Amino acid sequence: MPETPKITQKPTDYSLELKNKKTLQFIEDVTSNADEVQRKVLEEILERNAHVEYLQTHGLNGHTDRGSFKKIMPVITYEDIQPHVERIANGDTSPILCSNPISEFLTSSGTSGGERKLMPTIEEELGRRSLLYSLLMPVMSQFFPGLDKVKGMYFLFIKSEAKTPGGLVARPVLTSYYKSSHFKDRPYDPYTNYTSPNETILCPDSYQSMYSQMLCGLCQHKEVLRVGAVFASGFVRAIKFLEKHWRLLCNDIRTGTIDSQITDQSVREAVMNILKPDPKLADFIEAECSKSSWQGIITKLWPNTKYVDVIVTGTMSQYIPTLDYYSNGLPLVCTMYASSECYFGVNLNPLCKPSEVSYTLIPTMAYFEFLPIQMNNGVTNSISVPKTLNEKEQELVDLVDVKLGQEYELVVTTYSGLYRYRVGDVLRVAGFKNNAPQFNFICRKNVVLCIDSDKTNEIELQNSVKNAVNHLLPFDATLAEYTSYADTTTIPGHYVLYWELSLNGTTTISPSVFKDCCLTIEESLNSVYRQGRVCDKSIGPLEIKIVEPGTFDKLMDYAITLGASINQYKTPRCVKFAPIVELLNSRAVSSYFSPKCPKWFPGHKQWGSMN
Ligand code: AMP
Repeated sequence: MPETPKITQKPTDYSLELKNKKTLQFIEDVTSNADEVQRKVLEEILERNAHVEYLQTHGLNGHTDRGSFKKIMPVITYEDIQPHVERIANGDTSPILCSNPISEFLTSSGTSGGERKLMPTIEEELGRRSLLYSLLMPVMSQFFPGLDKVKGMYFLFIKSEAKTPGGLVARPVLTSYYKSSHFKDRPYDPYTNYTSPNETILCPDSYQSMYSQMLCGLCQHKEVLRVGAVFASGFVRAIKFLEKHWRLLCNDIRTGTIDSQITDQSVREAVMNILKPDPKLADFIEAECSKSSWQGIITKLWPNTKYVDVIVTGTMSQYIPTLDYYSNGLPLVCTMYASSECYFGVNLNPLCKPSEVSYTLIPTMAYFEFLPIQMNNGVTNSISVPKTLNEKEQELVDLVDVKLGQEYELVVTTYSGLYRYRVGDVLRVAGFKNNAPQFNFICRKNVVLCIDSDKTNEIELQNSVKNAVNHLLPFDATLAEYTSYADTTTIPGHYVLYWELSLNGTTTISPSVFKDCCLTIEESLNSVYRQGRVCDKSIGPLEIKIVEPGTFDKLMDYAITLGASINQYKTPRCVKFAPIVELLNSRAVSSYFSPKCPKWFPGHKQWGSMN
């Protein structure tokens, strides 16, 4: 997602070139001196936070050197700092984790106890995030000249926010960024010249936001040189939206008026500055959209597009075939790697294949450490990664000491009060930029199912299924085996559960019982999943497919033919391998969908919502 440093006047080609050069030099400098920069970052963080309760309680005692820090401070997960986070959320303003005032909470898509994790942040972090964004376009411009002359069509959205009992705002990091002056009041910049006016991005109603952004994108179709969204799932959703609403959109373009469903006055005004009656354009769009095949629709409607800017690494890789289809194989460009905890790094080789994308961590962003992950015959064994403090922590390595080909879990110490915090991402060293490593994103630890920003782990899935099977008790039926699959062939994608039943009773189980099972699973899944279902509509209704008796034996037989050990075989709780999905589908005897959305409201269970 694009952003660049501030320019106060319309830049000349020369000044832009100079600025880009400076930015690229910055990358050269910090990656060449990665270790020194990291030392300074840690020193600065520890110096300014020397008196915070958390560091004092652990007895760091004002030390700012790496040796003392690594010896004294434990490597932690969210649950370790949750009590501190809760105190801050409840209004304790004393310096618990950080000497700077906590400005807000960023709500991570990673969850704890079914609720989004709350990441404390401080005002100045916005500057650090802006800095990372500012690196993207100078890097891109090396590969695509002329990006400053044209527009980007990006589908960007805000999500709902809540207030903690102590009065701090809690919202996702991108919502925080788009609502900040860094984004809203950015001075003219040729690289942040988007087809979407700010008002359309900042509209809290997701339908109106998407509709108006699409309308503006279509109106300015010839000026668009790059298209994108943050994650691939978001861009695919935008294309699907167009598929559903192109008639309405064409009508607006033909007449120069906005559909009455767009009721947000600021959105209407912003769109009216762009929208002019254009029957020719409406005819053209109508002709393209009414064709039976939508292959290459992006290149047809936005003919000057050079690349699609979306994250397709990690679980998002499941959308690559769909994006390739709609874009006729335009380059898919992954520019950055970031999280609520911290923005990490950028892709310095944006034209590489999605499978080869590597991110260079920018050493000024935070102090990075790496927990080596045990490998089993080349397969990541995340279970063996220790959960709590033990001698393993001594093995954490620094940024410049990671080894090529080795996998690590990322551990960060940030300016906003996280110390040796396990992010939960598994990365593999793919190479080096000067002395700074470049990492392939391998996976999020323990996540089995993901469609959009939801991340469902095996335990959450297991508990949800356990709750659902209670509906079968009156029928003397039990669940013999199950597995799951994230089906992204539908848009939006949805979770599919394959159930093999053991039936002892004689009463037939009616479809409504299985539908109730679907809904109970959805009600039991975490809040990010439910938000995706209810609010963002980025996840479709959950499906249960009942499979013939003996299906899971067949699955085991198949796994054994592929080399699995018969003694160690365990039913996988999630499947991805296409032949296995085919096997399961071929033995499905019936299928049921969740009849309605599960319950969801903004904020944590116990808080009130802000809107
Ligand atoms: P959140 O906690 O909601 O801010 O999400 C951050 C997480 O999204 C990261 O820890 C990663 O697991 C994932 N993520 C962010 N950027 C990328 C990327 N470029 N490729 C793959 N996964 C990513």
